[in-house]
Amino acid sequence: MNLTELVKASGIVGAGGAGFPTHVKLNAKAECFVVNAAECEPLIETDKYLCRTYAPQIIAAVVAVAAHLEAKRAVIALKGKYKAEIAALSDAIKLADAPVEIFEMGTFYPAGDEQTMVQQVTGRSVPERGLPLDVGCVVDNVGTLLNIFDAIQGRPVVDKFLSVVGEVKAPIMLHVPVGTAITECVKAAEPTITDYALILGGPMMGKVLLSQADIDAAVVTKTTGNIIVLPKDHYLFHRATLPMEAIRHQTRSACIQCRMCTDLCPRYLIGHQIRPNLVMRNLWREPGIEDNGEYERCFGDAANCCDCGICEMFACPMGLSPRKVNQYIKGQLRQRGIQVPRNMEPQARSFVDQRHTPTDRLVARLGLSAYYGLHAHECRELSPNEVFIPFSQHIGKPANMVKAVGDYVERGEILAEAAEGLSANVHASITGVVVEVTDKGARISSRKE
Ligand code: SF4
Ligand code: SF4
Repeated sequence: MNLTELVKASGIVGAGGAGFPTHVKLNAKAECFVVNAAECEPLIETDKYLCRTYAPQIIAAVVAVAAHLEAKRAVIALKGKYKAEIAALSDAIKLADAPVEIFEMGTFYPAGDEQTMVQQVTGRSVPERGLPLDVGCVVDNVGTLLNIFDAIQGRPVVDKFLSVVGEVKAPIMLHVPVGTAITECVKAAEPTITDYALILGGPMMGKVLLSQADIDAAVVTKTTGNIIVLPKDHYLFHRATLPMEAIRHQTRSACIQCRMCTDLCPRYLIGHQIRPNLVMRNLWREPGIEDNGEYERCFGDAANCCDCGICEMFACPMGLSPRKVNQYIKGQLRQRGIQVPRNMEPQARSFVDQRHTPTDRLVARLGLSAYYGLHAHECRELSPNEVFIPFSQHIGKPANMVKAVGDYVERGEILAEAAEGLSANVHASITGVVVEVTDKGARISSRKE
């Protein structure tokens, strides 16, 4: 088996958030292989922990992937302030005599956005709605690299490292089987409040879980890297639940066309055609525009939005929501069948390095200062006796179940096979019996009756 086949068989998907099947990324040749260890969203601890704890394994995987891609350059990009992590990685590079560079980034958000990272590392801007490969790069998250190391040792993806932060006794790292209930993870971190809601991921782009039903149903997937526990009345939840009609009214009455949303937009900074202030200016007449050409002229920029949230959570002095408006507009562009042309050769703006959003100021704006700067050092193993494993933990088609209720499965055994096209294998994360299969996933129990 070559590396791509091994990665596919092991069910590896991007561990940093979106869950793009990694074997598809690796089915290429690239000039530069970039490892994303920036962990740019505030409060997340996972990638830093992995760099400090598993540096030799990560470096071994970087060398293997770079050789597979025939990359001339292998780079681990992370924030310059991560001194302990840089020291651990540098020691491992020296010990292995590995041709791997460390690239130190500033402390800004979104340093870990892969297009921003590629621009910082190589000086090249990825085309609008393009891939890093369009400019000769492949980017993988540091957690994905650790999974590749495991795959080379014959271990599929069955566990996940994640941090639990916010209103807990102390930030903590957990190592848990995929499919573990999120409530088990929160309990292990000892929440300091009872009436809480959760964010899975980072405070800027994470998934909000507000209702008890949603919290109870949520499980750890291959992409879960962090859980934030916050009071239900926190500002972030208020912003997350604003309905589109309220946003439309607020925009019409309060947008002062200051352009801050555009000036600080990371995609605008790398040269993409995206001016959220113009989308906001035209929003009031959006329902009345019937002609698709006119619609594209007014709103086509929204197609280049990556949902980072800088515009609405940091830039806008009026507390408006350009990101949510762009999300709505993107849906409308799809519904109308409008194909917005792409600039394939964008050039970063000359002021790109002067307009980055400092993380500490962002944290203050998000109302999270009380939790910032607290780090997770301890890592606990959880061994639940029941897991629910979703078939769709990745971008693309859900995997197809190959077991049935009543089947005995060993940890690491294949549970659902990748579908045709873009998909990924899913493995049993504990040894036990399949006790339930739904269209969403399978429940395995190790309880003895
Ligand atoms: S930053 Fe806010 S007020 Fe300024 S143009 Fe953008 S949406 Fe309007
Ligand atoms: S969310 Fe806002 S800042 Fe981020 S890419 Fe979209 S328009 Fe730009």
